[in-house]
Amino acid sequence: MSEFISQPSCADPIEQNQLSIDAARQRIAALITPLTAWQRCALRDALDRVLDEDIISPINVPAHNNSAMDGYAIKSSDIVDDSFSLKQVGIAFAGQPFQGTVNQGECVRIMTGAVLPNDCDTVVMQEQVAVNDDMITIHGSQQKASNVRYIGEDVKIGDVTLSKGRRIIPADLGLLASLGIAEVNIRRRLRVAFFSTGDELKSIGETLATGQIYDSNRYTLYGMLKRLDVEVLDMGVVPDQKGPLRQTLLQAAQQADVIITSGGVSVGDADYVKDMLAELGQVDFWKIAMRPGRPLAFGQIENALFFGLPGNPVSVMVTFYQFVAPALRKLMGETQPAVTNFQVICTNDIRKRAGRFEYQRGILFTDDDGQTKVKTTGGQGSGILRSMSAANCFILLDEQCDGICANSLVTVQPFSGLI
Ligand code: AMP
Ligand code: MG
Repeated sequence: MSEFISQPSCADPIEQNQLSIDAARQRIAALITPLTAWQRCALRDALDRVLDEDIISPINVPAHNNSAMDGYAIKSSDIVDDSFSLKQVGIAFAGQPFQGTVNQGECVRIMTGAVLPNDCDTVVMQEQVAVNDDMITIHGSQQKASNVRYIGEDVKIGDVTLSKGRRIIPADLGLLASLGIAEVNIRRRLRVAFFSTGDELKSIGETLATGQIYDSNRYTLYGMLKRLDVEVLDMGVVPDQKGPLRQTLLQAAQQADVIITSGGVSVGDADYVKDMLAELGQVDFWKIAMRPGRPLAFGQIENALFFGLPGNPVSVMVTFYQFVAPALRKLMGETQPAVTNFQVICTNDIRKRAGRFEYQRGILFTDDDGQTKVKTTGGQGSGILRSMSAANCFILLDEQCDGICANSLVTVQPFSGLI
């Protein structure tokens, strides 16, 4: 990992002591060197893993020109008018090619996927053919080269079919299988330890006393980390006390590549947490010009990266998606696809004050005219976790924005692109 980067300064382009989202992302990215360890695995086990090699195709797919339809393979030089007759001299099945010669005025019955006989260049679909013994009559105008799939039209021999750094999706498994590839090199899984901090937190199964709440952050974090296909180490709930906190952090640093905590980084708590983290590693406390998720601690404890997320349930998810997930993906060696934010009409007013970037929770829907639009989920408090559960996207409102009137265009970030 590269050298440590200092706390926000007055030189930062935003209001004093606030860091912009981009600046925070850059500072995080600057501290991350992708892990290089890799392993070889069977094709199916590569699903969701990050590829550690360029896959060069050893073959053409398809390997031969073949038929895209059930019908008749003909020579285009036989095409005349809208109706003409040919003599059928054989049959080609998928996996059982026709071995003979096709002369002028002749054709071969051919099934989908069967190798196109060398002498033929066109397939006529069977629906346009009348059969009378070994003679067929073709009706309707025919185009040369129709209904033929060409050698190498899917993948050409020598093509870089999938690139190093790609996260393998179901289609990739099929594509690799179509090349006859049984094993691939993948990056090793990241180990991520996480725990919640807070004297008020109880784990599910325990009884709540007045003022206590169930710990939900460990569950949202578990879910988001699983989607990234990392190995998770759930270290439970740790009370707001120096001793247990120090001990758990050190244990996590021994076992994991990354440590994620929630709670304890807001102004009220930060001071003693700050002192303790300063003993253990190099951790900065940022105030990011965003909502929800303003406080964030980031740095290193021993050899592990450390993310101290705010405690509010929505803030945890927003800061995870915006900062932690891209960082983990980079650490895993993933080359991340370009963001797929887009603009749609928002059907309700949104109240906002200028100054901070907001991630409001939105629901993309199709209206009666078939148009994709977005509406907010309602209450946007950082403790309203139902807003995340109901949403399928973030509505992105930049620092300058001071509210939205219904039927204005807004930018949305679909959850599906966030993994
Ligand atoms: P903190 O950042 O520790 O000041 O916490 C901010 C708010 O989030 C408080 O209302 C906490 O009770 C709540 N909170 C903190 N951690 C969790 C958690 N793991 N699950 C649910 N709520 C939490
Ligand atoms: Mg707390």
